[in-house]
Amino acid sequence: PLQLEIRNLHASVGDLPILKGVNIIVPRGELHAIMGPNGNGKSTLAKVIVGDPEYTVTEGEILVDGHNILEMEPDERARLGLFLAFQYPVEIPGVTIANFLRLAMQARKPEGEEVSFMEFYGKLQQALQTLEWDESIVERYLNAGFSGGEKKRNEILQMLMLDPTYIIMDETDSGLDVDALKIVSKGVNSIRGENLGGLIITHYQRLLNYIVPDKVHIIVDGRVVQTGGPELAQRLDAEGYDWVKQLATA
Ligand code: ADP
Ligand code: MG
Ligand code: MG
Repeated sequence: PLQLEIRNLHASVGDLPILKGVNIIVPRGELHAIMGPNGNGKSTLAKVIVGDPEYTVTEGEILVDGHNILEMEPDERARLGLFLAFQYPVEIPGVTIANFLRLAMQARKPEGEEVSFMEFYGKLQQALQTLEWDESIVERYLNAGFSGGEKKRNEILQMLMLDPTYIIMDETDSGLDVDALKIVSKGVNSIRGENLGGLIITHYQRLLNYIVPDKVHIIVDGRVVQTGGPELAQRLDAEGYDWVKQLATA
């Protein structure tokens, strides 16, 4: 089945269990929001999906279109079309955005298949237009001296260039002003469609006004304690998280 399936996922840092049995299915074509109070495992879930070696999966599976990814290296996961929006926040001295994008696109291709300049440039033009960004930006060095908003916009530029099948965005909204938030959302919404699935992780409902999720899951203490539609995010915004914390202890 074409879906991202997280099945009974348990994960620890050292001896400390953080995820305690997460079950989520995101069919291709849907974007699901993950919300929850701080410190309850949202970022851990994202990092386990990308394969961060700091976390040990002790039980459960993650299936991407039926492939168990837990034994795969991060670059193999990327080739399946998984895109983690927080994956490349690093400054790489001497590497321009243009170079980086070209390399990242190449890494997504099956062996022996070249990214042509036409393919690269055509895509770049379209993505820059969506993000309302001047072409000169791609000659700058990756993330060097970027503002918070520019870093986020650059993440979304990478996302548009790479044709992901599943996107995982962790707190992409943090620190963004409304204008930056709108542009980031416009980028995400421009690739929404039946071939794209993903998880939008956010503590606040604000981003979800612009990227309206198909479903909302709330994680408390390493488990999904409630799933609903976009109205669930509205309720959290209005009432806060106290009532969901009680669900975890019930
Ligand atoms: P959230 O994203 O929901 O705010 P996190 O997944 O970042 O929560 O963290 C969940 C819990 O796991 C927190 O108590 C956090 O301190 C702990 N944790 C996460 N990563 C590590 C780590 N690398 N080392 C130690 N504790 C960690
Ligand atoms: Mg946190
Ligand atoms: Mg977090």
